[in-house]
Amino acid sequence: MDYKLTYDQYQEGLEQGKLLGLKCNGCAAVTFPPKSLCRECNGSDLNVTEIKGHGTLRTFTVIRVPPKGFTSPYVVAMAEIDEGAWVMGNLVDINPDDADMSLIGKKVRIGSQIVKGDTYSGGDSRVVTFTLAEE
Ligand SMILES: [Zn+2]
Repeated sequence: MDYKLTYDQYQEGLEQGKLLGLKCNGCAAVTFPPKSLCRECNGSDLNVTEIKGHGTLRTFTVIRVPPKGFTSPYVVAMAEIDEGAWVMGNLVDINPDDADMSLIGKKVRIGSQIVKGDTYSGGDSRVVTFTLAEE
């Protein structure tokens, strides 16, 4: 299969502050993070697109028992980006002990941060982050 956007290219984009996704030429849906097929129609006719980095927090959980190598507590959330896709990331600018249901529906900015490699990964990688946006 011929990938329009590889994992390495996606990671390089994050390093440069770019959020690279894929836009479907069939139905115009934006898939982010990138996958091999369109999230809406499973089409494979996709073009690389840069998403704007705005979204709405839809759900979250506070991790208190972390995997090896992580420090808890931290907040894992799902946000719906303005382009329509849902993406998982870490909500980074709040005290996890203050996280409550009032977060749902808040506007967020999407960025990234480095997560150190561990026993189970191939080294450091960048993951999506959310910060609360001014309303
Ligand atoms: Zn599509």
